[in-house]
Amino acid sequence: MCGLQVEPCSRCENPSVIHQPYSGQRLCGRHLRASIRKRVSKDLRNQLSLPRDARGPDGTPFRILAAVSGGKDSAVMLFMLDDILGKRRDIEIVAGVVDEGIDGYRSPSIDCVTELCSNLDIELVRVGYEDIGYQRMDEVVRLMPEIADKNPEAKGMMPCSFCGVFRRQSLNALAEKTNAKVMSLGHNLDDMAQSILMNLQKGEVERSVRLAPHTNNPIEGLPPRIVPLRWIPEQEIHALAMVLELPFFHGECPHALGAQRQTSRNIVAALETNTPGARHGLLHSLESIREIYSRHGTANQDVKLCTTCGGVTSRDICQSCTMRSWLNEQI
Ligand code: SF4
Ligand SMILES: [Zn+2]
Ligand SMILES: [Zn+2]
Repeated sequence: MCGLQVEPCSRCENPSVIHQPYSGQRLCGRHLRASIRKRVSKDLRNQLSLPRDARGPDGTPFRILAAVSGGKDSAVMLFMLDDILGKRRDIEIVAGVVDEGIDGYRSPSIDCVTELCSNLDIELVRVGYEDIGYQRMDEVVRLMPEIADKNPEAKGMMPCSFCGVFRRQSLNALAEKTNAKVMSLGHNLDDMAQSILMNLQKGEVERSVRLAPHTNNPIEGLPPRIVPLRWIPEQEIHALAMVLELPFFHGECPHALGAQRQTSRNIVAALETNTPGARHGLLHSLESIREIYSRHGTANQDVKLCTTCGGVTSRDICQSCTMRSWLNEQI
């Protein structure tokens, strides 16, 4: 005998594509799509309170910038936003991609993004690190040893430490360029659970409180971020991307050395196997903590303005200006 018996969907007779141990259900492609759409719609209503007509006083539609990367998560996020909000004439969805300048990795993923946006008929805007005064990541990685020699603060930093800061600035630049009122990110439930756990183990609860969505605690000067897929497990997103045949890129970044993220990923996966629903539990815990913070009004207390660029920061000179000056020293 060969071949595995595929269990049927819990809601119809079709073969299932996913098993949810936390709910005991198995779902076929059609019911997986319906189930994810329902959960995303419900949470979108929590994260984004829009009037019946969201247009501005001058009649321009309310713009949502969907930050896409070419991966499965942002592909499903864009698909779902379009599916749920795409018909509203008072809302406009624009996709934005950040080009980090990483050979062999970024260009195939940008091809996927371009194909997806063309399939969905959504405008795509791009910004590269070199467009906003940094350098391509490949070049940054080449300069890192010299930067670390001259700047003690840079010692031990990984490529992702730079890239994370530059990406945030690039996303803000995209939001400004597209005049977006809200930015939508593709984080899934596993990403959220991993971040919450990593912040907890470092004692950085405030960092978790500041995670998106920013509906109730927007950071001044920045468009609030929403995370429509935050309650959807990664595996279900992957399955849906396959079912919908969305173009997405599987490759790994050559500079990825995310050992800490990987450990956290393994721990969250083990927790979930032992106790199905653990990822939901971690996110529910954060929601409760956030609720307590909002009642006491203590979040965002350490927000200041950078003395160089005027951007929001928790220090005198923001991390991105510091890193830009390190790079400029090398030229
Ligand atoms: S893995 Fe690190 S260096 Fe590569 S794109 Fe992601 S953040 Fe940037
Ligand atoms: Zn079904
Ligand atoms: Zn600055």
